[in-house]
Amino acid sequence: MRLSQYFLPVLKETPKEAQIASHRLMLRAGMIQQSSAGIYSWLPLGKRVLDKIENIVREEQNRAGALEILMPTIQPAEIWQESGRYDDYGAEMLRIKDRHDRDMLYGPTNEEQITDIFRSHVRSYKALPLNMYHIQWKFRDEVRPRFGIMRGREFLMKDAYSFDLDADGARTAYNKMFVSYLKTFARMGLTAIPMEADTGPIGGDMSHEFIILAETGESGVFFHKDWLQADLLADIDYDADLQPFVDKFTALYARADEKHNPQDCPVADQDLMTMRGIEIGHIFYFGTKYSAAMGATVSGPDGQNLPVHMGSYGIGVSRLVGGIIEASHDDKGIIWPDSVAPFDVAIVNLKPGDVACDSVCAELYQGCIKAGMDPLLDDRDERPGAKLAAMDLIGIPWQVVVGPRGLDNGVLEVKRRKTGDTEELTPAGVVNRLQHR
Ligand code: ATP
Ligand code: MG
Repeated sequence: MRLSQYFLPVLKETPKEAQIASHRLMLRAGMIQQSSAGIYSWLPLGKRVLDKIENIVREEQNRAGALEILMPTIQPAEIWQESGRYDDYGAEMLRIKDRHDRDMLYGPTNEEQITDIFRSHVRSYKALPLNMYHIQWKFRDEVRPRFGIMRGREFLMKDAYSFDLDADGARTAYNKMFVSYLKTFARMGLTAIPMEADTGPIGGDMSHEFIILAETGESGVFFHKDWLQADLLADIDYDADLQPFVDKFTALYARADEKHNPQDCPVADQDLMTMRGIEIGHIFYFGTKYSAAMGATVSGPDGQNLPVHMGSYGIGVSRLVGGIIEASHDDKGIIWPDSVAPFDVAIVNLKPGDVACDSVCAELYQGCIKAGMDPLLDDRDERPGAKLAAMDLIGIPWQVVVGPRGLDNGVLEVKRRKTGDTEELTPAGVVNRLQHR
C-alpha cells in the first residue's frame, strides 16, 4: 500500500475523551471513529488488524474441530421467550419491532439461535460431538460503554457452541476449546491466563475466563508467578486426550479477585502475584439449560431421548485489538506483534521526488510484495520527523528508512519497532533480512 493513496487520518493531539492507552492510540492512529456511545466505525488500518485477529481465531477454531457458520445479528423474540431469557436479559438487550409489529432483538449472544438450529436437524447421538461457531457482531446496551472498543455496545465476538451426549463428552469438548484458547492468544503475543470462573447452578470446574494482564484492566487477579513463564504455544493433537495438558495449566493457581480467598489460597506469599486484567475470552459448560428448555434432545445408544449437554465459548475479537495494544505499546505509540500487524514493514521515503530515493523505494516495495510481505510505503510529501513519528505511532514491526544521505553510502536503515534496534543494510540485503525476520 502506498500511503499517498491510503486513508490514515492520524491525530496530532491526544483526544480528551480517551482514558486509557489503547483508546487513545487507536484514535490517534486513525484506526476507529466513534459513531455514537460504544459504537465505532473501523477505518482501514483498524480493519486490517481486526481481520488479522479474526483470522487467527478462525484458524485455531478450525484446527480444534469447530465448524464455522454465520448466524444473523437480528433474532426473533420467540426463541428467547422459550429459553426464559427474554425478560431476564433486561436493559442490555436492544429490542426492536419490525413493520408487522413482531418482537425482534439485536443478538447479545446466540445460545438460543444455535439450539434452534440444532433441534431442527439433529435427532441421534450419532451426529455428536458437534461444535459450531461464528464470528459476528453483537449488541449489548452496556450501562457504561467505555475505553473505546474495549467495552463497546456493538462488538465483534467469536462464539462457539458444543453439543454432546453427556457430561463426559462435554468435558472433552471443553478441553479442546481450553487448549485452543491458550494457543490462539499466544499466537497474538499474549499471555492469557485461564481463571476459574462462576459456573452458576451447574457447579463443577468447567468455566474459565481468559485474562490478559494490563494496568487498566477491569478485574483484579491473583495468580502463581510461574504463569509469567508458561509456554502456551504448544503443537496440539486434538484427537489425543487433552486432560493432562489442561491439568498441567489448571494446577497453576489463577483466580479473579471475587473468587480468591487468602485463607484457602494454596500459593505461598512470595509466589503469589496480584495485578489487573482484561477478560478476552470465556468458556463455559452449562449442561442442559437451553436444550431442556427448548427441546433439543437426541436419542441415545439405548433409544432413550435425552437433552444434549452444551457449552459455549466466547472470544472478544474486537476487544482483543485494544487488549493487544494495552499489552504492547510505549510512549511513541503502538508496537504490533508481527502476527497481527496491519502491515509487515513500513518503507519510509525521506525525500520523495529524489530520483535515487524513489527508485530504491519502488524496488524495495515490489521486492517485499514478491517475497509475500505486506509493505506500507510512506511516499507522502511530509517532514521526515513527522513520517518517522507516524510510523512509530501506528506500530509497524519493521521500518526501512530510505534517505539521500544513506544512499550516498549505499545503505539504508532497518529499524525494529519493538526494540528500537537499527541495522544498516544495502538495498539488496533488505528483503532478504526481512524474510528471515
Ligand atoms: P464482561 O464481564 O467483560 O462484561 P461478559 O462476561 O459479559 O464480559 P461474555 O458474555 O462471556 O462476556 O462474552 C465473551 C467475550 O466477549 C468476553 O470475554 C469479552 O472478551 C467480550 N465482550 C463482552 N462484552 C463486551 C463488550 N461490551 N465490548 C467488547 N467486548 C466484549
Ligand atoms: Mg458483560
